[in-house]
Amino acid sequence: MDIINILPDSVANQIAAGEVVDRPAGAVKEMLENSMDAGATQIDLVVKDAGRTLIQVIDNGSGMSDSDARLCFERHATSKIHKADDLFAIHTMGFRGEALASIAAIAQVELRTRQHDSELGTQVTIEGSHIVDQQPTVCPAGTSLSVKNLFFNIPARRNFLKKDSVEFSHIEEVFRRVTLIHYDLGFTLTSNGKLVYDLKAGTLLQRIAGLYGNAYKERMFSVEEQTDLVKIRGFVSRPEFSRSRRGEQYLFVNGRYIKHPGLSTAVERAYGDLLPERSYPSYFIGLTVDPSKIDINIHPTKTEVKFVDEHALFAILRSAVKRALGQFSLATELSFDTPEEFNLPPAPKDYVPSQPRISYNPNYNPFRASGSQTHMKLEKPEKLDNIDNPDNLDILEPLAKPEKPAATTGSCLQVQGRYIVTPLASGLAVIDQHRAHERILYDKLSTLNSQLSTPNSQTLLFPVNCTFSAADAEMLGELLPDIKQYGFELSPLNQTTFVITATPADLKEDDLQALLEKLLCDYKGSTMQKYNNRSESLCASLARQMAVRAGTPLSQEQMQQLVADLFACPLAEVSPSGKKIITIVKPEELLK
Ligand code: ADP
Ligand code: MG
Repeated sequence: MDIINILPDSVANQIAAGEVVDRPAGAVKEMLENSMDAGATQIDLVVKDAGRTLIQVIDNGSGMSDSDARLCFERHATSKIHKADDLFAIHTMGFRGEALASIAAIAQVELRTRQHDSELGTQVTIEGSHIVDQQPTVCPAGTSLSVKNLFFNIPARRNFLKKDSVEFSHIEEVFRRVTLIHYDLGFTLTSNGKLVYDLKAGTLLQRIAGLYGNAYKERMFSVEEQTDLVKIRGFVSRPEFSRSRRGEQYLFVNGRYIKHPGLSTAVERAYGDLLPERSYPSYFIGLTVDPSKIDINIHPTKTEVKFVDEHALFAILRSAVKRALGQFSLATELSFDTPEEFNLPPAPKDYVPSQPRISYNPNYNPFRASGSQTHMKLEKPEKLDNIDNPDNLDILEPLAKPEKPAATTGSCLQVQGRYIVTPLASGLAVIDQHRAHERILYDKLSTLNSQLSTPNSQTLLFPVNCTFSAADAEMLGELLPDIKQYGFELSPLNQTTFVITATPADLKEDDLQALLEKLLCDYKGSTMQKYNNRSESLCASLARQMAVRAGTPLSQEQMQQLVADLFACPLAEVSPSGKKIITIVKPEELLK
């Protein structure tokens, strides 16, 4: 019995579609690339319901003839290669002739297209690979392709789609990858009737600003290098504008977005220790190399690439970025080990500096078991007002919370500008000052949030205007009630600008724009993971940014206060992001 049969085209195309168009963003990428291949200079992307109900791309490119308008939906229909040899000299984004056939197999598609020298255009309607209608039409020169109800005939795929915010963020990412490197073309993105991006043709820096907000113009250094092997052009962020996650990192080779962990490392290494712990630079770098020196696995959805001279490329890129950073003598200005980072709060007005002195408690014995008479109660900060008065050091009670390390005399010592070392009954505690402060602030901010109490805020002498990308501004608008809860007072001025009139009382940060951007960036990065809800994630981000940095010298009082506040936290051992705060060096280890 014969059991083999040839699949109908519509089924074969549906299967192929699984590879090319796995989600709305996949169709968006193919459609944008087709418009660029058609020589368009203005490309408008319109989506509804994150591409679920509509993806439309309108371009002013070459347009198609009547018969091409039908043919383009056939499998292996392409105008971009004619013979196998052409494969080695490809200058277009697509060439497999698969995308439109795939899209037409899984959606209701309407194409309106006109060539510049024709008077009339043509309109084709196609549904699940079947042409429903074709007729002449009056339309602008160029092409408008509308893809409606994606996966209408494959419920399993449709149900597999994530919620709109997730699908839209995939679309936005595709849009960024395409528009960042094609900054010489104009693009818009409209979502549910709202213009999200309006990008005019211009320079790379203008494009970055168009996508991420004007503030980016001031925080980028230009990177340029030309060798026999590679031409490098792009921008890297100043170290102080680094991010808590690897978000804004874009590498392009010969006009295509690529992922290359090796080259990404090269860029990050160039920063050396200019970057604070757990933070990553933003960069937008385009490389131009001889196409014979790379092996792009030219699969429509792949972004991997291999270079012949990978080591040399690594070294060239790293030194180019290093030079860009060095030109502005950052290396000396911003080293986190130098005292430039001083960020001490101003002294109270009646403060009289006193001679430094060493105070110690002669009865203190670090090796004595807890509960002895030499333990200080550390749960209420007010008790510590006069802590550096040696007379007070003997008012000692057993610790109220036995699970806490029992603090003793607290003659705190700061080591390497980042650790506070303090003796405890159980040994020597080495406390990470930044993480400790992060924990304290996090607990404080979360209480504010849960008790819905009035936050402590400071009114700004001069209100500050902050401008964001349209997408970020929208997100900030949504988060406004939560952010106000922490003591910020801000209101929208227009679609992308907010005016800030007050900030949380504890906030020392003076670059509010950067602070809010980090807040949004952290929020975007964390919504899916780690934190249970948005206020948790916002608290964590604010606490991290407000916390005293490593490298900040602390006075004895500040250290004492920090240690006391820390031990008053129910979870003093770990930072909100799960990092260890305290390491105890045991007496027996000291003895060794
Ligand atoms: P490929 O891009 O690999 O050639 P596609 O299925 O994406 O395959 O497109 C098929 C053909 O349809 C293209 O080769 C091109 O000739 C034509 N085409 C698609 N989109 C456009 C457009 N926006 N403007 C002009 N022609 C287009
Ligand atoms: Mg294509």
